[in-house]
Amino acid sequence: MKALLGGKGANLGEMTKIGVPVPFGFTITTEMCDYFLKNSKYPENFASELEEKLNLLEAKMGKKFGDRHNPLLVSVRSGAAVSMPGMMDTILNLGLNDDTIKGLMEQSGNERFSYDSYRRFVQMFGNVVMNVDHDHFEEALEKMKEERGVHLDTELTADDLKVLVLQYKQIVNDNAKQEFPENPLEQLKLAIEAVFSSWNNDRAKTYRRIHGVSGLKGTAVTVQSMVFGNLGEDSGTGVAFTRNPSTGEREFYGEFLMNAQGEDVVAGIRTPIEISQLRRVNEEVYDQLIEVKNLLENHYKDMQDIEFTIEKGKLFLLQTRNGKRTSQAAINIACDMVDEGLLTRDEALMKVDAKQLNQLLHPQIKRSAEQNVVTKGLPASPGAACGKVVFTSEDAMAMVEKHEKVILVRKETSPEDINGMHISQGILTARGGMTSHAAVVCRGMGKCCVAGCTDIIVNASAKKLLIGDLVIKEGDVITLDGSTGEVILGEMEMQKPELTGNFKRIMEWADEVRSLRVRTNADTPEDCRVAVDFGAEGIGLCRTEHMFFEDDRIKLVRKMILAQSTDERVEPLKKLKQVQKEDFVGIFEVMDGRPVTVRLLDPPLHEFLPEREDQIELLAKELNRSAEDLKNSIGNLHEINPMLGHRGCRLGITFPDIYKMQVQAITEAAIEVSKKGVKANVEFEIPLVGEVNELKFLREITQQTIDSYGSDVNFHYMIGTMIEVPRACVTADEIAAEADFFSFGTNDLTQMTFGYSRDDIGKFLPAYLDLGILEVDPTSSIDQKGVGTLMRICIELGRKVKPDLEIGICGEHGGDPESVEFCHKIGLNYVSCSPYRVPIARLAAAQAVLRKK
Ligand code: ADP
Ligand code: MG
Ligand code: MG
Repeated sequence: MKALLGGKGANLGEMTKIGVPVPFGFTITTEMCDYFLKNSKYPENFASELEEKLNLLEAKMGKKFGDRHNPLLVSVRSGAAVSMPGMMDTILNLGLNDDTIKGLMEQSGNERFSYDSYRRFVQMFGNVVMNVDHDHFEEALEKMKEERGVHLDTELTADDLKVLVLQYKQIVNDNAKQEFPENPLEQLKLAIEAVFSSWNNDRAKTYRRIHGVSGLKGTAVTVQSMVFGNLGEDSGTGVAFTRNPSTGEREFYGEFLMNAQGEDVVAGIRTPIEISQLRRVNEEVYDQLIEVKNLLENHYKDMQDIEFTIEKGKLFLLQTRNGKRTSQAAINIACDMVDEGLLTRDEALMKVDAKQLNQLLHPQIKRSAEQNVVTKGLPASPGAACGKVVFTSEDAMAMVEKHEKVILVRKETSPEDINGMHISQGILTARGGMTSHAAVVCRGMGKCCVAGCTDIIVNASAKKLLIGDLVIKEGDVITLDGSTGEVILGEMEMQKPELTGNFKRIMEWADEVRSLRVRTNADTPEDCRVAVDFGAEGIGLCRTEHMFFEDDRIKLVRKMILAQSTDERVEPLKKLKQVQKEDFVGIFEVMDGRPVTVRLLDPPLHEFLPEREDQIELLAKELNRSAEDLKNSIGNLHEINPMLGHRGCRLGITFPDIYKMQVQAITEAAIEVSKKGVKANVEFEIPLVGEVNELKFLREITQQTIDSYGSDVNFHYMIGTMIEVPRACVTADEIAAEADFFSFGTNDLTQMTFGYSRDDIGKFLPAYLDLGILEVDPTSSIDQKGVGTLMRICIELGRKVKPDLEIGICGEHGGDPESVEFCHKIGLNYVSCSPYRVPIARLAAAQAVLRKK
């Protein structure tokens, strides 16, 4: 019931049902949030129902809300269907006021605890509901500690805390220009309202945007009776993962603090204690916790992330959810759980987030003798990162705007840092453990993080950090190893990732399940090698123009383009043919019989020409022409709207020599490798066709060119087209008659369907996403409604004429799991993506099959 009760509310209910000790409470639905945000008020019966449920809770607990002797205190907790760590705010100890505090003291017989709870409540309520900055409270607390000459908040006495409560209330009054509400029911209503409103705060919105969370109703609110971890040394609070979320190892993994409440463990205020130590503190509770942990794993069949509180030696669970994990951990846990008999192969495949595999496909540090490891922190989120040091989110963003790579260094991170974290290569923090904000968020983002690096002193205002007497300033380059926790001075070389062990196992399972084939977009033998190692079954797009830029070739290309007669073009074309042929030989050898789709020249010619004055002059000399004359020629090639201009097949039709040369190069290469016993399997691809006659014309030229090699042609080939112009989709029956295959070029197809220029979309897309005009960026995930409909029409028309027509997709959408699922659904034969995303596509293709089941 996550959609209705939020993940937290649903799981609290579920835990109660399976016999896990959970404090009583009730959950207000996400639908109510939706109603409230839309109407700025509640439905009529809301108030009475709230009181009714509250009465029920009072009866269960034998306490009364607002009672002077026996007060019920509650927490007000937020929780949406998708967990958003730290994104929305929880209020603890609600129901306290100058009256009920007396009751709490009577009951607990603990004055210190009572005022500790009270000051926490005033701060949380003051912050969440009355918008008073945390800093004001922290300042007062620091001052108090200083005055008393103590370091820890636990060292403050009841009297100190009593004074603090007064100060806190004054802070609220001063800053919010409003009295702190004393009536508990009023407190509750305001708190619920604040939680609902927090759904639309900037932090929450940013989180949803970054993580592509959309289409949710809002947050639910859980009102839950309090249990107290701050009742003394026999009480405490902790968080844990049922397995190691970084490596996936089967070990109970977490931290706790005695005499602490709520977020103390993750907030980095005191350094928490490793969970196994709990056995020494209270063996009975520890054993019970282990039991609960096993119960939860068996029930949810997944690694759990739990929160617990011990009140006077009694254990309570406050939260469980499927734990966020690195992709390495996801893979290992999935495989282990299959071996443990907890999951089937198919279930295990669904447990690994395809998108997240990206992490494993990141480079690792190449170790060298010269590496200068300057300190070591906790290996909080794996991978490696290298960049210039910055100390604030703002500085990170400023540097990234200048195309710098940065490492964000913070004492500890908070939700305000999300934007900066997102664009940094990696994060280094001085405080906080493996479950700190930085660690959790980075693991979620797949970003390298070294946390709790206690050796470093961060001085953000001076923009430097100290490690002993080593000073590292803003802009200095460091390298982080998130798998070991090492911090290395300077830039380290990175090495390519490999597909081995459990990763390989998961991929093999995926291959057994999927029906969609996976190819790659690659233009060089090296890229092809990487892709084949990652499991690519062919090339879906080889862009020949990339070969034009290498080395001295660009000169030949320019000569060819600027030739003033067909004769003048012969020489450069001949040379180009030779070099292109060599490229194809290399590619065919690596691909060894796997299909290779080669796209003939696509971009407008002026992309190959120089722009700068001095370069033009240089080129003029080489071509033996006057600069003036050359400028004219270049000017003639200038286009107002090149994306819709003289490119693709339009180029092939007006300059058939160029396409002929390319077909010759490909054919000769294929003949050559065939002689060596290597199979070539070529798909000649004509780009940007929108009218069948374009294809007809070029198909004939292509066919004639191939035929001119007579019986030497002993390799398999097809001639087909890229489908990227909307008109091609809706006339696909005509086009299919001339094509042996289709391949959707969804980059251009998206651009032309929306009429959004790919190069200018950055100017308005962020606003569109913010305003919710578009839910997802159509350049990264296929727009299923619009572009997708065109694709469906195209497939239907095409296969009506040729039932076995091979249809695939190239373009980066081929590596996006949601797009892959869509491609599976509409019956494509393959997807093609960049080499490093091939494993993602393989898994996503398997998941598409399983989800359909
Ligand atoms: P978040 O979503 O940010 O984790 P939570 O609602 O889980 O927020 O609550 C914040 C902290 O307060 C957690 O440590 C949680 O365990 C604790 N907490 C919440 N409700 C209670 C309660 N009724 N009694 C004791 N601790 C609670
Ligand atoms: Mg929580
Ligand atoms: Mg295109």
